[in-house]
Amino acid sequence: MALPSDRLDRFARHIVLPEIGGAGQAALAKAAVALIGLGGIGSPALQYLAGAGVGTLVLVDDDAVDLSNLQRQTIYRAGETGRSKTELAEIWVREFDPSLNVKRVSRRVTRENAGETVAGVDLVLDGCDNFATRLAVSDACVAARIPLLSAAVGRFQGQVGAFAGHLPDQPCYRCYVGDAFDADDCDTCADDGMLGAMAGWAGTFAALQAIRVLLAPTGGLGDPQWGKLHLLDGLKPGMRTLGIVKDPGCKACAGR
Ligand SMILES: [Zn+2]
Repeated sequence: MALPSDRLDRFARHIVLPEIGGAGQAALAKAAVALIGLGGIGSPALQYLAGAGVGTLVLVDDDAVDLSNLQRQTIYRAGETGRSKTELAEIWVREFDPSLNVKRVSRRVTRENAGETVAGVDLVLDGCDNFATRLAVSDACVAARIPLLSAAVGRFQGQVGAFAGHLPDQPCYRCYVGDAFDADDCDTCADDGMLGAMAGWAGTFAALQAIRVLLAPTGGLGDPQWGKLHLLDGLKPGMRTLGIVKDPGCKACAGR
């Protein structure tokens, strides 16, 4: 698929990279990514995925903008408090690049609707703020055979992991955290605080890993890094990587 000349110009700095090139840019234009949560991680992730020309963006959030969000949620502005995050995010994308397709899902993700929410996308990037949603999203991804990038941040720490539990020998997010958090939705950042730039680091790193996954079929940036959990430490600063293994007793992905 050849890209039109204005798209070649827009993505010239990508296309000149041998790891992306015209074929990789065309693959990004064909890709669909669901962003779960348009907060501190979802905002910068959205900006860089839209910047990368990811053709279809499914924007999932049930929240409205609060004044305290502006310290890290980079797509919102003073004067927009109280308005729907998905509505504002859609406006942001349309003004930034009208060629991209946007689908809004303005509801809270639950076990009941998670499958419908992620249906049809190539990748889910979960930057939500609670374990119950993360596990519901992860289970839906395993069932639909969709890869999942899970990103979280608090205080000066972040983590970004790539999961493909639908594949043999690859773990899912539930293999990592277990079943204890299914009903836990109280781990929001309001209690502990968060350096805004940490959310930016985790969100942009998640966008980088998303592009790695989307380009993996054409070689791209190499290994999609399934089961690798990157821990970001903003105080040190530094980064280290853990390997997660498939749990043979996992109720979501065992036997796959
Ligand atoms: Zn699992």
